[in-house]
Amino acid sequence: MLKGIGASDGIGIGHVLLIVEPSLHYTPTTVTDVDAELTRYRSAVEQFCDNTTAQAESIRRSTGDKEAEILEGHIAIIRDPFMGGEIEKLIQAQQCAEAAVEQICQMFIDMFSSTGDDLTMQRAADLRDIKDGLLSILLGVQEVKISDAPAGTILVCKELTPSMTAGIKKENIVGIVTETGSQTSHSAILARALEIPAVLSISGAVNQLSSGELVIVDGKAGCVVTAPSPEEVETYRNKREAFLRERRELEAYRGKKTVDADGTAYELVCNIGTPKDAHQAMEADGEGVGLFRTEFLFMDRDRLPTEDEQFEAYKQASLILKGKPLIIRTLDIGGDKDIPYLGLAKEENPFMGFRAIRYCLKNRDLFKSQIKAILRASAFGDIRIMFPLITAVEELRAGKSLVEEVKANLRTSHISFDENIKVGVMTETAASGVIADLLAKEADFFSIGTNDLTGYTMAADRGNRDVSYLYSPLQPSVLRMIRRIITCAAEAGIPVGMCGEAAANPMIIPLLLSFGLTEFSVSAPSVLKVRKNIAKWTKAEADAITEKVMAMTTESEITAYLTSVIG
Ligand code: PEP
Ligand code: MG
Repeated sequence: MLKGIGASDGIGIGHVLLIVEPSLHYTPTTVTDVDAELTRYRSAVEQFCDNTTAQAESIRRSTGDKEAEILEGHIAIIRDPFMGGEIEKLIQAQQCAEAAVEQICQMFIDMFSSTGDDLTMQRAADLRDIKDGLLSILLGVQEVKISDAPAGTILVCKELTPSMTAGIKKENIVGIVTETGSQTSHSAILARALEIPAVLSISGAVNQLSSGELVIVDGKAGCVVTAPSPEEVETYRNKREAFLRERRELEAYRGKKTVDADGTAYELVCNIGTPKDAHQAMEADGEGVGLFRTEFLFMDRDRLPTEDEQFEAYKQASLILKGKPLIIRTLDIGGDKDIPYLGLAKEENPFMGFRAIRYCLKNRDLFKSQIKAILRASAFGDIRIMFPLITAVEELRAGKSLVEEVKANLRTSHISFDENIKVGVMTETAASGVIADLLAKEADFFSIGTNDLTGYTMAADRGNRDVSYLYSPLQPSVLRMIRRIITCAAEAGIPVGMCGEAAANPMIIPLLLSFGLTEFSVSAPSVLKVRKNIAKWTKAEADAITEKVMAMTTESEITAYLTSVIG
């Protein structure tokens, strides 16, 4: 049995498919037969162009001309006589084709990456793709395609990325196992959104498991049973049945209002990452969207989405929601969310670094194009803007003034948008908790991002196993932060929601009701469960529990008490 972190509930019984990044490692050699090496290089280029043409054709059919043209651009680059000439010169000087390709591509990548100009930096991303594509052909390595995985597959990989999830067919993948990640990492959030049982953070999983072997993934207990006996398979089949039965019972809460036992109403909305997820939010009976993580629009591709592409995505999500609220969070990159084509510098401490609102305020063209796209989409529904990682009032003011600047441009161009669009703050840093009173005077709403708020309050990285004992929203410090943020919002008369994973935690829900939270934003599969958990409590019961908890001194005391009363 392998132990990890249970990150997406449910039981998966199936056969392993290992997803291993192909190694592009090679040992440079001095070639003696230059002509043969030139031929090998030229035929690799031909194969690269053939593969790319086929891919472009398929993308043209599935997505559109523009996306196909991007790939066709790769052919033009590799056929460029200057570039090809430089590579061939190195081969003529007896370098092997791999080394020649790598050296020349890298020279251009470094040159383009250092310009600071968005378009030229995207060229660097193109060259990275070309380099990897050519090296794969020269080295004869092949990628495993997730979309071809047969029914009953358990995916095992180092990390689950958004581009991998794009290839997942829900009906075929019955479990996910990764080597990295935590309850709140993006792998976990993606797995929960897909409703696939997942166990993360099993170090060495890729080496310990082999493709084809039968395993059981227990997403609740956080373990993977290897070489299960027939009795174990039977036991887990029964557990899976019980889990599915409980899910069916939750259906009693579909179509109901979200109210506590006194009848007080709350908003119960969803977290989404793509416009398509808005369908899932509606199917799950969500009352809108409390967090649209827009970085996924930027991550699953190799260049920046244009303003029009973003506008279409935001408008599509809004139309799917049919007038229900849609809170769009502006680009939140950095930390554990990298966008390779932006060429972000490697930092000593990326979670404390140049990320999210900090990056956007310095890259005004990128930020303005996102805000313009959101404003244009606001003509089609109830859209609100939210800034991530705010730590100072100046950042909120700078973001708001950019919104005003873009509004003025739109007015001049006679383009419609919502003049009264609300601009809110994601309170997810210790600083924003401490100055919640000041921020509440200038923000239209708050949404508490407990995933980061826990990390930044406890100075404990959410993905670091060695400090995971500190990373808990039930720490007295984090609960005080949450209470303070909610109280400051209430005093200023602005709504306050929670979009961090804690919003769906049954142990925390009574505390949130008592503090006065007004909106819960959770993953689509959690909607009915959260509605059921809110309905359990009267205000008086929630207050009594909260009073006891807030008088306690340690996280373990709080957890033990809440486990005894809630289970
Ligand atoms: C959070 O920090 O709580 C949050 C919801 O945002 P993310 O998990 O995307 O950082
Ligand atoms: Mg966050």
